[in-house]
Amino acid sequence: MSAPTKNKVIVLQPGYSREDEHDATAMRANCTCTLVRCRDGLNIIVDTMTAWDGDLLRSLLRHQGLEVEDIHVVVCTHGHSDHIGCNYLFQSARMHMVGACASNRDLYLDHLTSDDENEELALDTNGEVVVKRTPGHTLSCVSVIVQNTQFGGGPVGIAGDLFERREDVEDERIWRNAGSEDESSQRVERSKMALLCDHIQP
Ligand SMILES: [Zn+2]
Repeated sequence: MSAPTKNKVIVLQPGYSREDEHDATAMRANCTCTLVRCRDGLNIIVDTMTAWDGDLLRSLLRHQGLEVEDIHVVVCTHGHSDHIGCNYLFQSARMHMVGACASNRDLYLDHLTSDDENEELALDTNGEVVVKRTPGHTLSCVSVIVQNTQFGGGPVGIAGDLFERREDVEDERIWRNAGSEDESSQRVERSKMALLCDHIQP
C-alpha cells in the first residue's frame, strides 16, 4: 500500500455555542473536536471537549479505526474547559499543547515562546501541519493550519474560538459576546486567518 498523499482533516464532533434555554445569563458550549491524520502517519487531536465526553470521544475515534493510544499530539486551541477536558485520555501522546504552552507529563517545552508573532511550530515531518499563535479570544490562543488536505485548494485553519460560528463573520457581536480578552487583536487575527485559509473550522 502506498503512503497517503494528502493530510486528512476530520471533524469528529461539531461544536456549538448558544444561550441556555432556561437561563438567559448562561451559555451552553462545547468545542469542535477535530482529528488530523497527517500523511506521514502522525495523528493529532485538536480540542478534546469537556471532561464528561471521554466515552463519546473514545467511540468517535474507534469509528476512525483509532484508539486513544494512537494519538501522537494533542493541541488545545486554548485553555477553556470544553477544549481540554479529555486531555487525560491521551497519555501516549508525545506532546500536549494548551494554547501556546507545550508539555509532556511535568516537562514544559520551549515552543512558540519567541517574540516573533508569526512563529510557527511544525508538527509533522513534511511541515504541512503547523501551530501558530492567534491571540484574542484568550491571549494564549493558537490555531492549527493544515496544508495539502483532502479538500484540495488552500490551507484549512482549525481556529477554536477565534471564530465562534459561521454567522459571526456577518455579525461580530457573536464572537465578542462569547468572550474576548483582546477584541482588537482578535479582529486582526481573524482577518489574517481569513486571508491565509480556504476553509476555517470554528
Ligand atoms: Zn473559549
